[in-house]
Amino acid sequence: MTYTKETIKQEVQAHKVEFIVLEFTDMLGETKNVELPIDELDMVLNEEAMFDSSSISGFSDIQESDMYLVPDLDTFLVLPSLVDEDQSARFICDIYKPDGTPFEGDPRYILKRAMQKAEDMGYTVNVGPEPEFFLFKLNEDGYPVRKFNDRAGYFDSSPKDKGDKVRRDIVRTLKKYGFEMEASHHEVAMGQHEINFRFDNMLKTADNIQTFKNVVKDIATNHDYHATFMPKPITGENGSGMHCHLSLFQDGDSAFFDEDAEDGVSKTMKQFIAGILHHASGIAAITNPNVNSYKRLVPGYEAPVSVAWSHSNRSCMMRVPTTRGKGTRFEVRNPDPTANPYLTLAVLIQAGLEGIRNELDAGEAESRNLYEVDDDSVPTLPTNLKEAIEALKKDEVLLEALGEHTAQAYIDDKEEEWTDYSLQVSQWEVDKYMNK
Ligand code: GLN
Ligand code: MG
Ligand code: MG
Ligand code: MG
Repeated sequence: MTYTKETIKQEVQAHKVEFIVLEFTDMLGETKNVELPIDELDMVLNEEAMFDSSSISGFSDIQESDMYLVPDLDTFLVLPSLVDEDQSARFICDIYKPDGTPFEGDPRYILKRAMQKAEDMGYTVNVGPEPEFFLFKLNEDGYPVRKFNDRAGYFDSSPKDKGDKVRRDIVRTLKKYGFEMEASHHEVAMGQHEINFRFDNMLKTADNIQTFKNVVKDIATNHDYHATFMPKPITGENGSGMHCHLSLFQDGDSAFFDEDAEDGVSKTMKQFIAGILHHASGIAAITNPNVNSYKRLVPGYEAPVSVAWSHSNRSCMMRVPTTRGKGTRFEVRNPDPTANPYLTLAVLIQAGLEGIRNELDAGEAESRNLYEVDDDSVPTLPTNLKEAIEALKKDEVLLEALGEHTAQAYIDDKEEEWTDYSLQVSQWEVDKYMNK
């Protein structure tokens, strides 16, 4: 939807909007917001909404903490009331500094910069994400407990599937948010679900992922469940991924489709894939951002472990589905839904473009089941957060994609997270070593 200040004011009046919510995303992928009474609409539209950014992860330090929330008019939305009857409307915002220039640590800005790099090379990119999640029960205090909401599996139907009503409610709500909804189903693990919405350009998709996650959590709460996007909530069960399907266009045509190639896949696509494979270890620090992420990336649970590409093999980091023509695309399978979607798409595209620039070679498609290949012939993704961060620190292309400010803040934050984790004594250790 394209809005102007005038049409926004008309909408606000027509819907008797009382509150206005300004949203943005911090470095760690958390949606943040501040709510203003509608009387402040003119001030917001004049780009004068200031906030103290010093308590936002990855934003500024105390000396320069004043920042501005500049509404992206196209993201204006009168919110369907999820929780109560208050009429409110939201904007997703870009972050600006007092000198009127964009804040280089704003994840949305980092993604826009990556999109500009693609455009400079004549490309536009579409992304379709597949975020998975679990529904867990709540205890009497309203806190989540690790008890599944059902015992169903992949594509199971009601009454085994006890998430169908929740999913329908999520789909219904997201349609009111303007999403084009595609499909929804029970996933492989007990209590695990997936809901698909249509691909879009990278910025819209990243915005959509944030909105999607918040709506899923709100609706789950309305049904007395807790929705979690944690990558591996239960040992020995499938985890939750956020596969991303990427397609590239040049002058309106697919840059990934080549009707003369035996497999229908263009050289450009193979170079793009090669770029991502080449930077895979560092990319993981962004796409698989926490300690728990690496407990999902293990053999046997449909999550990738190998830095390789294939046509159908789910053990590989990347897979090329059979669709050809405009729908020619590849699926990156390692991202999980706790990743910051703006940074995720920024590093994927910058690595891919680097592959095209340097005409990198992706090699032959892998046809073996790599879960069963037990030699060093295929590199693997990092096995923990520490390894991924070490790889990121050495990857100039990715550091550049993130920009100096965010690269430094992100590495510092994640190193601290790793140290903190390393110092914990877990139940597993107690059980294993107490009697030694
Ligand atoms: N849950 C799997 C993962 O972790 C994916 C399963 C699927 O979508 N078929 O990536
Ligand atoms: Mg899917
Ligand atoms: Mg799935
Ligand atoms: Mg998939």
